[in-house]
Amino acid sequence: CVTLTISSPSGRIYSRVPGRREAIGQQAPEFAIENGGSHEGTQHFSMTRKVNNYPLLLTVTKEKSTVLKPWRNSALSFVFLGFGICAAFLFMTYRTALFQKQQMQIKEELSRQAMTDPLTELLNRRRVLELARLEIKKSVRNNMPLSIILLDLDHFKNINDQFGHQQGDDVLEGTAGVLRDYSRESDILSRFGGEEFLLLLPDTDLQGAMVVAQKIRDGLKKKVYSHPKGDFHVTASIGVSQWTPKEKDINDALQRADTALYSVKTSGRDNVRWMPSNLGELDAADTIIWLPPKSGLN
Ligand code: GH3
Ligand code: MG
Ligand code: MG
Repeated sequence: CVTLTISSPSGRIYSRVPGRREAIGQQAPEFAIENGGSHEGTQHFSMTRKVNNYPLLLTVTKEKSTVLKPWRNSALSFVFLGFGICAAFLFMTYRTALFQKQQMQIKEELSRQAMTDPLTELLNRRRVLELARLEIKKSVRNNMPLSIILLDLDHFKNINDQFGHQQGDDVLEGTAGVLRDYSRESDILSRFGGEEFLLLLPDTDLQGAMVVAQKIRDGLKKKVYSHPKGDFHVTASIGVSQWTPKEKDINDALQRADTALYSVKTSGRDNVRWMPSNLGELDAADTIIWLPPKSGLN
């Protein structure tokens, strides 16, 4: 509520709106303190002006809550607006982060797909050859051996013909499982072609790679596939070689593993053979391919 008071310059009240008899004749400051400062628990703001050319003072008193109400309302509006802006900003930041995360995931997934064989989830040919270049650099830097295993399933076409293409796919997946089971985490496994697999074995010499290859060969034979036409297993022909530091890429080692593999194919399949790098220094063709005694390696 607003109070209007007319008083003398010394504060004696002559008139008051709304009217209040007991106030007339009192000193305005005392009256203000007595009735205005915290009148009945309410606080007041006062403003006093001299009335032009008259020895009179005009005092307007207003309840503090009335004066502050619009300020409070706008302060509250600002607080809500502030919260709103903060919430919107946080939401936008969250959405942007989520969007960026999704973009990253899509990118990662695309790059994973670009380097992975969809059927077996092993690396594809392109990626394994890329990694071979990196592994060669690592081998040179750390002076560590690097070997490879090249594996081709035997008579795989017959599996497709006899049991169907889907069963053939299952065998390829099963083969990938065997490769995982018998290799180390640091080994690099790939599906190199249709039913051909290439493994890079860092920090592994020829002897060690032969051991792994034999285990894979045995693992493949032990894996039985069920089919209404009858249970069956597959065998593989495996060629092994070791990269040598004088070779600038993996191609020569790959060629040697392929030659060893071919020699297994032409001599009955289901076996492991290796080929040394110093081919020119050897004269007897028989010594080029070595079939290790199984008992000595397992
Ligand atoms: P070898 O012992 O001489 O290696 O005989 P093979 O039958 O394994 O070899 P060949 O090259 O004659 O046949 C390979 C077969 O692999 C032919 C092809 O249809 C099949 N193949 C290639 N990729 C896939 C695939 O992704 N899924 C299935 N099911 N079959 C495939
Ligand atoms: Mg084959
Ligand atoms: Mg083949």
